Amino acid sequence: MADREPARILVVGGGYVGLYTALRLQKRLKNQLRRGARGEEGGVRITVLDPDPYMTYQPFLPEAAAGSISPRHVVVPLRRVLKDCQIVIGEARSLDHERRVAHVSTLATVEQTGGKGGTVEVPYTELVLAPGSVSRTLPVPGLAEHGIGFKTVEEAIGLRNHVLEQLDIASSTRDPAVRDAALTFVFVGGGYAGVEALAELEDMARYACRYYHNVGPEDLRFLLVEASDRILPEVGEAMGRYALRELRGRNIDVRLETRLDSCEDRVATLSDGSRHPTRTLVWTAGVKPHPILAASGLPLNERGRLRCAPTLRVEDTDHAWSAGDAAAVPDLTADAADALCAPNAQHAVRQARRLADNLADVVEGTPPGELTPYRHSYAGSVASLGLHKGVAHVYGRKLKGYPAWFMHRAYHLSRVPTFNRKARVLAEWVLSGLFKREIVSLGSLEHPRAEFEMAAGSVPPPDTK
Ligand SMILES: Cc1cc2nc3c(=O)[nH]c(=O)nc-3n(C[C@H](O)[C@H](O)[C@H](O)COP(=O)(O)OP(=O)(O)OC[C@H]3O[C@@H](n4cnc5c(N)ncnc54)[C@H](O)[C@@H]3O)c2cc1C
Repeated sequence: MADREPARILVVGGGYVGLYTALRLQKRLKNQLRRGARGEEGGVRITVLDPDPYMTYQPFLPEAAAGSISPRHVVVPLRRVLKDCQIVIGEARSLDHERRVAHVSTLATVEQTGGKGGTVEVPYTELVLAPGSVSRTLPVPGLAEHGIGFKTVEEAIGLRNHVLEQLDIASSTRDPAVRDAALTFVFVGGGYAGVEALAELEDMARYACRYYHNVGPEDLRFLLVEASDRILPEVGEAMGRYALRELRGRNIDVRLETRLDSCEDRVATLSDGSRHPTRTLVWTAGVKPHPILAASGLPLNERGRLRCAPTLRVEDTDHAWSAGDAAAVPDLTADAADALCAPNAQHAVRQARRLADNLADVVEGTPPGELTPYRHSYAGSVASLGLHKGVAHVYGRKLKGYPAWFMHRAYHLSRVPTFNRKARVLAEWVLSGLFKREIVSLGSLEHPRAEFEMAAGSVPPPDTK
């Protein structure tokens, strides 16, 4: 009976790597999956584990924050696209790779343990560990209390609502200190996440000012703080300089070789000695490997990423694979022997496909020594700097302004998974070209019970507090 047990592939993380790996495995192992479902010999089962039932297309987050794409369309529902996989909504807490089990907490285990977060064991025969990365924070006083990241759709939409809310606060006060703090927006980190988020939100906020009788675009202060001497390293030096000029030309205060020292009491204090009272501090100063990797017992490099071979198998470990932000994968196209692939979507998607092909080969009996190594030379990057503005450096060609912005949209439209999503995003872009931009803040969505609690009398109405 034991040899009739299907092989179990567990994919931890349903992001870029998880989704693309599972999609490819579904295609490659069609017959084995069918046999697995019937419990026949030689069958396979694939389980995809993620705390969210969707994959987030992160390059669209800045446009979601600006309101050009609705939040539902920057995510891809895992259950709909991974029909032959079992989707489990939960989080891997640790692994016992020797026994080949993952300890997983789900909504049910949390409920059953009264919020204490117990786990269940999920067994596997092959593990794909792809939990991505988390924001790299520093011990800056006040950061944990007042900062917000920009990695998830919740953060992007929360930030949009928050920025619009600041305009409402500024518009309804006579206190200049409250007004100035509300209209000062500080972003830390000049990579594509920080620059795109800032540029899109600045564009949207200055546009929104036309609907306020007492807040003008010139009243808003946007500040970008970057520790190195350049921004947008992803698009190369010349285009980075262009982006810097473009942002400064829009009256955005970009401070290079400057660090955030503190943001206690909602005052951003910078290493150049300046102090900026603010209610908005966005932290986009890079990423670090997900903490689950340290609890996996698998070999890590000095930066905490999983040490992987070019075949995307975890080094010195059988039955474990990784790719994307979590994995240190040798860059075989670089001149330096110890170069690693950068953590970005371009590598994540391609590595996922190679990983899935190699894993499917192993399932079908190919010896590990005959697997194909991952090789891809970085094609360059595109970045949006707000509506109709952008910068790109792709295959050696440099573009700026409208052509770069158009290329940014065309590229990402071609990359966002599924035809359904492509059609919806395109429709939204066309509609937003025909009508005025949406500038409504739906911050109250974050407190859906507030109105009812007040009506039911459990919370006093605001003027009696
Ligand atoms: C705002 C923004 C803009 C970007 N723009 C670009 C761009 O223009 N071009 C580009 O190349 N790259 C871009 N990137 C980077 C790119 O999105 C990442 O490199 C890519 O997402 C990495 O893929 P991944 O699968 O490794 O991680 P992710 O896509 O982050 O997926 C990780 C998944 O694992 C899940 N997970 C985490 N912990 C657990 C756990 N314990 N158990 C189970 N599941 C878990 C998460 O919920 C998530 O779904 C951008 C990133 C951001 C934040």
